[in-house]
Amino acid sequence: MKSGGKSRSLLRHMGTFVRGRLPGQLVLQFTDHCNASCPQCGMRRDASFPRSILSLDDGKRIIDHAAASGISALSLTGGEPFLFKEELIALIKHAGQAGIPYIRTGTNGYLFMNHDRTGFRDRVSELAAALASTTLYTFWISVDSSVPEVHERMRGLPGVTKGIEKALPIFHEHGIYPSANLGITRNVCSSTNDVVSKDLYRAGFRDFFTHLINMGFTIANACYPMSIDKDSDDSLSAVYEATAADDLVRFSAEETVIVLNALRETIPEFRSRIRIFSPLSSLYALERQHAGKSGVCQPCRGGSDFFFVDSVGGNTYPCGYRGNDNLGKFWDLDLKKPPLAPTCRECDWECFRDPSELLGFFADLFVRPLTAVRTVLSDFAAFRLRLSDLRYYMACDLFNGRMPPDYHKLGSFSRDCIQTRFPCSAAGYSVSPQ
Ligand code: SF4
Ligand code: SF4
Repeated sequence: MKSGGKSRSLLRHMGTFVRGRLPGQLVLQFTDHCNASCPQCGMRRDASFPRSILSLDDGKRIIDHAAASGISALSLTGGEPFLFKEELIALIKHAGQAGIPYIRTGTNGYLFMNHDRTGFRDRVSELAAALASTTLYTFWISVDSSVPEVHERMRGLPGVTKGIEKALPIFHEHGIYPSANLGITRNVCSSTNDVVSKDLYRAGFRDFFTHLINMGFTIANACYPMSIDKDSDDSLSAVYEATAADDLVRFSAEETVIVLNALRETIPEFRSRIRIFSPLSSLYALERQHAGKSGVCQPCRGGSDFFFVDSVGGNTYPCGYRGNDNLGKFWDLDLKKPPLAPTCRECDWECFRDPSELLGFFADLFVRPLTAVRTVLSDFAAFRLRLSDLRYYMACDLFNGRMPPDYHKLGSFSRDCIQTRFPCSAAGYSVSPQ
């Protein structure tokens, strides 16, 4: 983005905060077709349900309304969106022309199988060139484990790790810097273990980030485990089958605290070497919530500033997990007023919880200044963590996947010592290194 465009965008965002809102986000599930076999996901290829794809016309209509309503970030998801590559690229181009600045999409990586067959380089170059011809901001590739065999067995995509490694430099040649997307499961540790301990998960995350750097990734993001217990909580119902009752992704509240804490303590070790999207302030807030300190984290903006549209009927939901709250067709929604008040803290969906936690405070500052001041005074360390995250986001050029990392800027985050100054025991709970 040129500097004039950047200033305009910052001004527009400032206006959004002044109105007590956050820059809008739309997750548009383009299809629920998938060719992978992830055990933790109800959309896996052997799951039996009628599959769907959004029509190009509906997709464009939704995007036009999003752009006209000031939505800043659009994620085109699946299923596996690249099963319909031509349509996907047409929608990305349409969103760019409509003026949406942050357009994201990603793949489970099947595109990078059969790397040893002739034509692999040409095939990847063609894809990279097609994406480079759009204004796509983020291109993510799923990676579930530092152990290639574990990742490939989970996904049902043999040989894909080597293929991704070979593909990354080709993308870089085209000015695209893919982001690795980790879905946290019990398999994140190289040895699957029923016992969740901090040491085990610290080691697992260290192995994982090291693996990504060795593969050639320059950006990473973590998807927190979705521990929705369908038996005990009927208020949530996944819209898009992206949950499963598999033990692999089910963690108790105590285990979730350990896993998130291990991630929060590991990220600072790697922030100078790979751009890691997951904000420490959000991890900290979720840890506190799962430790029984609810009320201290920002409410999620799902349904007020962030929305999910499904591929089945093109209907709108507050997020992918509130399938009981159908808000109707997206293009009928007047987003000038939030359709729902931001109050929900029911799940850990990072797509919506991370930006809510990171930015919600700044919206409060303008419309609920007393609440904002109380937030700072009640937990000043958390406030510092938020400011440190924002400083890091700026050093990462807002995770612009069209720019290489600036290691000089990232260097100031080498061995960020906030973690040692800010143990969880100071935040009102403890995680023992078992
Ligand atoms: S997690 Fe993604 S890649 Fe895996 S089965 Fe589900 S939709 Fe497909
Ligand atoms: S916390 Fe956000 S993402 Fe999770 S169920 Fe509530 S509105 Fe949806």
